[in-house]
Amino acid sequence: MKPQLILLGAPGSGKGTQAAKIVSEFGYNHLSTGDLLRAEILKGSELGNKVKEIIDAGNLVDDATVLELLKVNCDLSGHSYIFDGFPRNGEQAKALDNTVLGNSKAIAIYFKLDLEVLVERITNRRIAPTSGRIYNLLSNPPQVEGVCDESGEALIQRKDDNEETVRNRLNVFKETINPVLEYYRSKNCLVEIDATKSQDEVFSQISNIINN
Ligand code: ADP
Ligand code: AMP
Repeated sequence: MKPQLILLGAPGSGKGTQAAKIVSEFGYNHLSTGDLLRAEILKGSELGNKVKEIIDAGNLVDDATVLELLKVNCDLSGHSYIFDGFPRNGEQAKALDNTVLGNSKAIAIYFKLDLEVLVERITNRRIAPTSGRIYNLLSNPPQVEGVCDESGEALIQRKDDNEETVRNRLNVFKETINPVLEYYRSKNCLVEIDATKSQDEVFSQISNIINN
């Protein structure tokens, strides 16, 4: 059984991009709490309506709501998961261990980079809503402008990927990440990678971690 993977990093540091590669190369299940929350908003569910404004402003949704959503969407028996976007604070890190992971072997991978590059990265992010494929207008554009190479669908920009909200999201990240890193460091399961490198180079660092 492969270790559970916990991807930690600022918004835009490349977690979703790498998760897609890990799924196709290593057969993991990908669980992104951001994706789960956005799906609730699209459905127009009670939960979606409750969290919409919080997400649009770039603030964190309350721990209990996100933890519940995570729990109902994962089944650890016999499966290896990528946790992407969870935990976001020290309480969530403890809750992930106590209520989801138990004694499963897990590795936390921290996508380290200078936050200054992220405003440009995120405001140029475009997403194919159905296939989930992630593009970047500068570093990884689609072959035809505005259209997904794989599915042919129109690309969208996330509502919270505008400059003002991105700056708030980065501030929230700075204020909340240290206890999470400390938590995994003290459990000896934190590995840092250089997330400034190209997508392929970042993936090669992650592959080495999974294979060793
Ligand atoms: P996260 O899931 O951490 O928010 P994404 O994987 O969605 O981040 O990546 C954010 C943006 O940066 C996307 O537009 C993506 O194409 C781009 N990107 C991802 N990895 C890299 C990289 N190694 N170098 C440059 N741009 C990248
Ligand atoms: P992401 O897709 O990871 O960039 O998350 C988008 C937004 O969803 C965040 O800005 C938060 O509003 C919300 N969100 C995602 N994951 C969490 C989490 N673990 N805890 C609280 N809020 C979250």
